Amino acid sequence: MKDNFGRTIRYLRLSVTDLCNYRCIYCMDKEGVAKKRHNDILSIEELTDIAKAAYSLGIRKIRLTGGEPLVRRGIVTLCRNIRAISDDIELGITTNGSLLPELADELKIAGVDRLNISLDTLDKATFRSITRVGELDDTLNGIKAAKKAGFTDIKINTVLLGGINDGEIFDFIKLTEDEPLHVRFIELMPLGVVKGWDKIRMISVSPIEEYLRQIAESITSDGVARVYHLPGHKGTVGLISPMSKGFCASCDKIRVTADGKLKPCLHSQTEINLKGLHGDELISALADGISQKPARHLLDTVGAQTDRNMNEIGG
Ligand code: SAM
Ligand code: SF4
Repeated sequence: MKDNFGRTIRYLRLSVTDLCNYRCIYCMDKEGVAKKRHNDILSIEELTDIAKAAYSLGIRKIRLTGGEPLVRRGIVTLCRNIRAISDDIELGITTNGSLLPELADELKIAGVDRLNISLDTLDKATFRSITRVGELDDTLNGIKAAKKAGFTDIKINTVLLGGINDGEIFDFIKLTEDEPLHVRFIELMPLGVVKGWDKIRMISVSPIEEYLRQIAESITSDGVARVYHLPGHKGTVGLISPMSKGFCASCDKIRVTADGKLKPCLHSQTEINLKGLHGDELISALADGISQKPARHLLDTVGAQTDRNMNEIGG
């Protein structure tokens, strides 16, 4: 389905929980998240119905996110249900990776195509200070488990944090040398807890891009990322720049929060309730949301208009 600006919407990010086993400093408060009542979050059946309705409107890529999607009970069943809708859906999960040692095999068998694993640092102490409670080895073991389960072309999402992990950029690029890993540097977005953070933390991907332009063999694009391949490397390095170079003109996404609100744009306040809707009502609410996608976000002028933290929206 096309939105009012002629963009074909084919990508749904479905948040399956706002809970997480980590408490990343840029994503949620240090107290974490109060658990919602069971009835306030979408059930596995409702999530499946939303995926079906979205498929009927032309969605062909679904990414499960959160909070941490792998803490959600029933996640494997949900993946199986979505795969049963059609083989024509590209099904991905964005995860902090810590629970992949237990779940990677089951997720692969359930029909998950792709994994994006978030990893902002390769240093144990920095990992603990970013995630507040996490262990670097758990995420590294998660990456190993994903490879062992047969996932290929794993993406590593690295949010750039000025003064915290910007000294590790070359270490991350090096990760792509011997392994077919695809590192994506992402600019920090000033929403939720990040609103009001010191500007020193917000760094642009542009200097990395200047460097890559000089040495890269080829440049392609993959969704919103500009992707560089360094000579002799097995993986790639991508840059995602919501702040320094907007990509709204080619945005093909809608998002659904764990409590069942469709967000036509990550940054706007507009939310359309989907919880409790079925059949044609659900399809028309989704279509309504697509038609309400704004032309662009206003982060650079009025700032983020949503009051939600990223764990509620799913990235
Ligand atoms: N828990 C999973 C994870 O960390 O991958 C999935 C949910 S998390 C909200 C999805 C992505 O959003 C992660 O890659 C995370 O680093 C990113 N993220 C969270 N807050 C952000 C912010 N303020 N700006 C940019 N990216 C952010
Ligand atoms: Fe959890 Fe992901 Fe948010 Fe970190 S970024 S607190 S892992 S939801």
